[in-house]
Amino acid sequence: MTRQILIIALTSVVLTQIATFATSIYLHRALAHRSLSLRPIVELLFRAGLWLVTGVVRQQWVAVHRKHHTFTDQEGDPHSPLLLGFWKVQLGNVYYYVQEARKPETLRKFAPDLIPDRWERALFVRGWIGVGIGTILVGLAIGWWQAAAAMFGHAILFVFVIGPLINGLGHWMGGQNFRNTAYNSRVLAWLTGGESLHNNHHAFPRSPKFSLRRSELDPSWLAIRILAALRLVAVVGAPLQTRVTR
Ligand SMILES: [Zn+2]
Ligand SMILES: [Zn+2]
Repeated sequence: MTRQILIIALTSVVLTQIATFATSIYLHRALAHRSLSLRPIVELLFRAGLWLVTGVVRQQWVAVHRKHHTFTDQEGDPHSPLLLGFWKVQLGNVYYYVQEARKPETLRKFAPDLIPDRWERALFVRGWIGVGIGTILVGLAIGWWQAAAAMFGHAILFVFVIGPLINGLGHWMGGQNFRNTAYNSRVLAWLTGGESLHNNHHAFPRSPKFSLRRSELDPSWLAIRILAALRLVAVVGAPLQTRVTR
């Protein structure tokens, strides 16, 4: 039984890390900020991976995130802890996301470049089917009830821990290299695919690299460099190199 629990816990963490890297590299850096360009086959793999482990719709994610950058911590920011309160965003991040993602005007205004294509309409818009197939694939590897438990654990980790740590805590407390309302957490960045270097990111949104100081690690940037060395990804935005301003 202990072994089963260990397998479930490990699978949950691996699934969450896959979702975190795919969100950070593909949805965030490649699509929302256009700082990376992906080969079509790589893009399709990212889309399929996200469909299987999150069911997220890319136009919705990108629109909500671009709106966050446009109105950061001001009226119109979909998930600002400064406006809503820390715990509301920390616990209700998914609620605020869904509320904003459902608004057709938000999608039209902030992500008109990502209107659903054939793949989206045929497959990826049906998030629950993706997550269902994902659960079956995990089940083939570790068993059915174990897969259901691991997917549940992953959902809790991804939706209630990783996401809110970026959107909630990332605008609440931590270190700062630049003058803006976001904060860095060097330790959490190890778990969030580098996303917790959020102060750096708000200072240079088009940089595909979120780390700046030697002590800061951006795991997604390491993955991007490997993909770039294999010529699967091209770096478009200038990587962060500027001196800190505070
Ligand atoms: Zn932010
Ligand atoms: Zn961003």
